[in-house]
Amino acid sequence: MPQKEIIQDEIICLTRREFSETSLVLVVLSRHHGKISLMAKGVKRPRGKTAGGIDLLDGGQASILLNREGLSLLREFVPGRPYPAIRNDIRKWYAVLYLVELVNMATQELEPVGEIFRVLSAAIDRIAAADNNRVLANILIRALKRLLVLIGYRPEIESCVVCRRGVTSAEPLYFSASSGGVVCRNCEVGIVEKMRLDPRAWSYLLNKTHDLQSASLAFDVLNYMLRETLGRTPTLRSYCQSIFSSNS
Ligand SMILES: [Zn+2]
Repeated sequence: MPQKEIIQDEIICLTRREFSETSLVLVVLSRHHGKISLMAKGVKRPRGKTAGGIDLLDGGQASILLNREGLSLLREFVPGRPYPAIRNDIRKWYAVLYLVELVNMATQELEPVGEIFRVLSAAIDRIAAADNNRVLANILIRALKRLLVLIGYRPEIESCVVCRRGVTSAEPLYFSASSGGVVCRNCEVGIVEKMRLDPRAWSYLLNKTHDLQSASLAFDVLNYMLRETLGRTPTLRSYCQSIFSSNS
């Protein structure tokens, strides 16, 4: 592989910071080349080559001078579909930022991301179209569950990860991230790392309930799993609480 080459790829902007009067440093997720840190020069000039600039969460087609040993360079960017519905709704904005932060945490520079690009892109489309908080919470949690699987953590929900017995919400349930999912009351004594699993969270994770309170509890369980496996949760996690507060 050459150290530098020009590539064309579809990207989503994960982070953006100003570097100078006219330049930005971005971290983007690309469909075929994974995560790329790059410099966008002249991007803030009105008639810059990058068609009016690039903002956080923007998606589109990019031409990139890929540098495998340093910062890459954005040569051209053609924005795709704009998402005014997300920028004008703070809860949608938080939901997307949470997923973007998680993807940034869980991916490595220039490593293949497989389905992660498609899941993130589809979640952004669905979040833009969500017409109430219940739907928004459902999209957020489904995308989070899917991303957890893609980064290597598939929480087992239906049966105890220790004894393999099918469990029900009528009994006390526990959740252990290091064990990989639900633990029944008979097996929990042997597990140090665990949390009590609220039956409403359990039902929500199995798609049996869809109310906001259960969604909030399910979100807590998945974030617990993230904290135990990745070492931390996205900082946007606390901002997402507003999604679960009322169904407007
Ligand atoms: Zn068990």
